Amino acid sequence: MTYTMKEVLQFVKENDVKFIRLAFCDILGIQKNISIMPDELERAFESGISFDASSILGFMNIEHSDLFLYPDPSTLSILPWRPQQGRVIRFFCDIKHPDKKPFEGDTRNILKKAVERAEKMGYVCKIGSECEFYLFETDEKGKPTFTPYDEGGYLDIAPLDKGENVRREICLSLEQMGIQPESSHHEQGPGQNEIDFKYSDAITAADNLIAFKSVVKAIASRNGLFASFMPKPIAHESGSGLHINLSLLKNGFNIFRNGDVNSSDAKSFIAGVLDKILEITAFANPTTNSYARFGVFKAPKYVSWSKENRSQLIRIPAEKGEYSRMELRSPDPSCNPYITFALILHAGLDGIEKRLELPQPINSNLYLTASHEIEHLKLLPQNLKEALDIASSSSFVKNILGEETLGKYVEIKLGEWDRYVKSSDKESIDKQMYFH
Ligand code: GLU
Ligand code: MG
Ligand code: MG
Repeated sequence: MTYTMKEVLQFVKENDVKFIRLAFCDILGIQKNISIMPDELERAFESGISFDASSILGFMNIEHSDLFLYPDPSTLSILPWRPQQGRVIRFFCDIKHPDKKPFEGDTRNILKKAVERAEKMGYVCKIGSECEFYLFETDEKGKPTFTPYDEGGYLDIAPLDKGENVRREICLSLEQMGIQPESSHHEQGPGQNEIDFKYSDAITAADNLIAFKSVVKAIASRNGLFASFMPKPIAHESGSGLHINLSLLKNGFNIFRNGDVNSSDAKSFIAGVLDKILEITAFANPTTNSYARFGVFKAPKYVSWSKENRSQLIRIPAEKGEYSRMELRSPDPSCNPYITFALILHAGLDGIEKRLELPQPINSNLYLTASHEIEHLKLLPQNLKEALDIASSSSFVKNILGEETLGKYVEIKLGEWDRYVKSSDKESIDKQMYFH
């Protein structure tokens, strides 16, 4: 159900709503919010609610600090873990300057522009993300530890799997929020879990992912646990990926249909993503810790594609019909999904526009293939610095993010890199910075 402004006002009256959260993401994709009372909602729709944007990472400065949040009525969602009397609802917002011009650093708007470009070219983009996470125990003060909640492995059942009740609560909460969970399971690592929800249009998919992360965090915490989306929280165990499944509809037909890549649009789209993935990696894999995940436990290392093969950067899953798609396996859950989805979509559309040729698939298990057979393949960046250097000199990225937003992003991330390289205890710096 998506609501119009009038229906929202009606909903608030009829459903005992007392608090309205106006949510948005900072440049790194961390959710922020301000709560308003129901009497302020009409004003919010008409003239926005201001906040101090100099205190948000990558936004404004002290001299020009006011930005305004305009709730997007179609994103209304109840927060089911908050009280059921005097309810709390949440909107994702558009962010604007005092003169009502869109704020350049509003990454949701950057994704909107990518979607508009796709539509102009005649494509509707659908995205489904698969987000893995770890459940850790907390200490007596409620602080997170690195002790996994259980010792279960892939698809294990109770009592090895201790996460079943937490996943159950998460799925039920997602349903109440209008996000349709499809499946849930214990993942490969101890305490590692995955819950998949239904694909949707690109903006809703990014909104849903941000909402999903907050549900997981809230439910875990209510159960005395800590949920972490860190890409590689435990060395020598499976990392947490954020696989991005993407399909494009043209005239109502999925260009990836039949689980095959016969269509020349599908081939060129994949070729476009392969062509730009090195430039995108600083966004899809934005933390120093992200790079510890690559090349082991079904996470990619090379720029390559194949059908079904889980050692590759892009694979074409076996599903047919509506669920035919490509799966990009490099991104991880610490990314800003609005920026990441936008860059991937633009890269693929560039591929279609330029009619790029898809290289031959690599059909072997890349973890076992002799190195001389794959020496022609490009490697994904080895660390955050390498990825940032590629991104900051990319005209592709600059055109999409704008010079200012790209500059701010790179500055923040180079700062993180500096702290990391200067520290003698890299692992603990990683954990301090990214235990989110
Ligand atoms: N955990 C793996 C990763 O880091 C993915 C495993 C899977 O295929 O679900 O991407
Ligand atoms: Mg998985
Ligand atoms: Mg997957």
